[in-house]
Amino acid sequence: MSIRIGILGYGNLGRGVECAVKHNPDMELVAVFTRRNPEEVKILTETAKVYHVDQAVGMKDEIDVLILCGGSATDLPVQTPEFAQYFNVVDSFDTHARIPEHFAAVDEAAKKGNKTAMISVGWDPGMFSLNRLYANAILPGGKDYTFWGKGVSQGHSDAVRRIEGVLDARQYTIPVESALEAVRNGENPELTTRQKHTREVFVVAEDGADKARIENEIKTMPNYFDEYDTTVHFITAEEMAANHAGLPHGGFVIRTGSTGWEDEHKHVVEYSLKLDSNPEFTSSVIAAYARAAYRMSREGQTGCKTVFDVAPAYLSLETPEELRAHML
Ligand code: NDP
Repeated sequence: MSIRIGILGYGNLGRGVECAVKHNPDMELVAVFTRRNPEEVKILTETAKVYHVDQAVGMKDEIDVLILCGGSATDLPVQTPEFAQYFNVVDSFDTHARIPEHFAAVDEAAKKGNKTAMISVGWDPGMFSLNRLYANAILPGGKDYTFWGKGVSQGHSDAVRRIEGVLDARQYTIPVESALEAVRNGENPELTTRQKHTREVFVVAEDGADKARIENEIKTMPNYFDEYDTTVHFITAEEMAANHAGLPHGGFVIRTGSTGWEDEHKHVVEYSLKLDSNPEFTSSVIAAYARAAYRMSREGQTGCKTVFDVAPAYLSLETPEELRAHML
């Protein structure tokens, strides 16, 4: 029998999860729930239907895992604890500083309903977190580096769009190549924010807008740009549509450390991602963890979990026997 999946929230991630379900033969999409008018939300899966979010709890016995695809800022802190009482859930909550309080709220709800809840699943947090943990466990005295990009930051793009005179904007975060090389060479550099990443912004401005003012407002924006070297390009709406429609991202998690009695041997552990579509890759990680949530819930492992709590074999389409035979 397939794992019956529900999606709650149909934005970039919701669409990505729909595609990921298609790529996983042990899963089937049953329903998509939205806060909008369901008739206005068009999905691709012919065998599934769109419902209003208020109908979700009434369908709890028809869904094995509900995947929460709302935004981290305001949707998930409310939705994940709310639905973890009724469903096994997976979310991609990515406000790192608030993960402990989100965990506590979801854990209480999931335990109340005897459900399994996985939070903060994706690539960062998610696959990057796992790789940080493995490398830390193996090289306890080492040093961690995380670089992001080249990729689109939705938050920074939105911040530029709010500037007066800006019609559209896309912001790319780019790792500084020389900093990456120094880390890979085992030089253990101390890097400031400015030395690790640069920012590149493409802007479509209103006709007659003061471009010098817009550029200055971007470069001096507190928290978003003031600590970085930023390049601003003004382009046409046509160029934006042709060259900047995608949502690529990626990055590098590196740990350097040493072993031997006198620390005479140096090691560099690196995990890198180069993603054509951030939401589709994130959704593919989520699908694998939805399988784990399903299996762990059937074993009675309830409450809130993160990627740290899931043994790798739970993620795979293959059985532990198959994995031992050809993947060890
Ligand atoms: P979106 O803004 O595309 O979607 C968020 C929600 O907005 C949707 O669930 C949907 O809810 C609503 N929405 C979407 N489109 C429309 C529309 N046209 N009109 C009205 N409402 C709409 O966000 P993403 O899917 O790109 O990202 C969701 C979250 O995923 C991010 O906040 C981020 O925190 C997280 N993320 C985590 C990653 C990780 O590595 N852990 C990586 C990437 C993202 P509804 O259908 O109910 O209206």
